[in-house]
Amino acid sequence: MARRSSKRPWGAPHPELDTERARGGSRVEHRSDGAWTVRSVSAAAATKSYLCPGCQQEIPPGTPHVVAWHDDALLGAQAGLELRRHWHSSCWSRRR
Ligand SMILES: [Zn+2]
Repeated sequence: MARRSSKRPWGAPHPELDTERARGGSRVEHRSDGAWTVRSVSAAAATKSYLCPGCQQEIPPGTPHVVAWHDDALLGAQAGLELRRHWHSSCWSRRR
């Protein structure tokens, strides 16, 4: 159910690596279910364990991974932030 056009006035594609560096490790990925903000979490920053929704396995502290949340104007940015989830990098990649 894709109700929204993939053409968004502010959603022009950027060179990915440059964008990632400029935003301090976060990037926006456009998928069939909308735009997701994805941020890389370094080993040093991963101080807690999380449950990965991709494989239902724990992400132990000290494991580099990604945190993603739905960047959806319909829900509101704040709702998206509250729904953010931590993923194994490989699980997030597999979700594409
Ligand atoms: Zn996983």
